[in-house]
Amino acid sequence: MTDQPKELRQKLDERAAVATLKLESRYVSVDGTRRYLFKTRDDLPVETVFIPETHRNTICFSSQSGCPLQCTFCLTAQLGLLRNLTAGEIVEQIVIALNDAYGEGVKPPRGTSLVGMGAGEPFLNFENLLKAVRIMAEPKGLHLVPSRVTVSTAGIVPRIRELATVPDRPNLAVSLAAPTDELRDELMPINKKWPLRKLLEACREFEDSLKRGERFTFEYVMLDGVNDSDEQARQLANLLNRFGLRAKVNLIPHNPAEPLPYHPSPPDRIEAFRQLLKSKGIQVFVRQPRGRDILAACGQLAARRGKDLAKPVSVLHPTKVKSLTV
Ligand code: SAH
Repeated sequence: MTDQPKELRQKLDERAAVATLKLESRYVSVDGTRRYLFKTRDDLPVETVFIPETHRNTICFSSQSGCPLQCTFCLTAQLGLLRNLTAGEIVEQIVIALNDAYGEGVKPPRGTSLVGMGAGEPFLNFENLLKAVRIMAEPKGLHLVPSRVTVSTAGIVPRIRELATVPDRPNLAVSLAAPTDELRDELMPINKKWPLRKLLEACREFEDSLKRGERFTFEYVMLDGVNDSDEQARQLANLLNRFGLRAKVNLIPHNPAEPLPYHPSPPDRIEAFRQLLKSKGIQVFVRQPRGRDILAACGQLAARRGKDLAKPVSVLHPTKVKSLTV
C-alpha cells in the first residue's frame, strides 16, 4: 500500500496480518497432487488439496476444522468438530493453493474448479460457505463463478432445501454410501436424523429446481464386502429410480487409512457394480483416487504428519504466503 504513509505501513506490518492461515506443511504425491496443512490463528488444523488433471485442475477445500459427523469410513471423523472456518479462511486456502500452482496473483485459468469435499460438513457452516462462494465469484478477484464450484453434503436436508432457493449457487453433491437405512444408519449416523426417504425427497426437489448448466451428483464410497454387492447395486438403482432421480452417481473406491476398518472394493467388483447401475438406466462413473500416498485422497484428511509420510516438499515461505490474500 504505497499510497499510505511509511510510518503507518511500518506499524501495520508489525501489528496486522492480512492472512490468518499459517502454512505448516505441503506434501506432494507421486501423481502430482498436493496437500497443504495449515494452522489457524487459534492453532487448529485446516487442509486443502490441489489435484492436477489433464484438462483442468481441481482444488478441494475444507469448510470446517475437523468434522462433527461420525461417518465410520472417514478419517476426518476422528478429529471431531474443532470449529467452523470463517469465509476468509475458506477463501484463503484457495488463494494459497492457486498462487502456488499458477504464480502469485495470476488469475486462475479457465477450467480450474473447486470442490467443497475436504474436511468438514459444508452444510453445517452454510452461511460462511455461501459467503466464500460469493467472494470467490467476484469478477475483480478470483472470478471463480459458482458453476465451477461443487459442494458435497452428507445429507443435511434443510440446507439442501435452502440451497434450492439460492440464485447463484454452487453445484451440489450428496454422499450416499448405502442403499438402505439399516446400513446407512451404521455407516453415516446422520442418517438417523434424516433417513433416505427424507434425503431423497429433498434431492428430488433440488433436481426439479436445476437450471441449465447446473450439476447434481451422488457419491458412493465403495467398501469391500460392506456396500458393494450386486444386490446392493440393484437396491441403489431401484431407490434412485423410485424417487425419479436422474443425477449421476460417482463411485469412489475407499481410501484406506489406519485405523479405519475398511478396504477398497476390488476393481472387478466396482466394475460389476457400475455395470448393474448402468443396466438400470443410472449414469455412473468411477472416480480415480488421487494423492493416496500423502493422505490427500477423499476421507483421508486428518492433519496427519507421521513419519510414514513423505517429507514436505519446498514449504512456501510464510512471508510470501502472508502477501497472498485477495
Ligand atoms: N461432509 C461432506 C464433505 C466430505 S466430501 C460429505 O460427507 O459429503 C468427501 C467425500 O468422500 C464424501 O462423499 C465421503 O463419503 C467420501 N469419503 C469419506 N471417507 C472416504 C474414504 N475413506 N474413502 C473414499 N471416500 C471417502
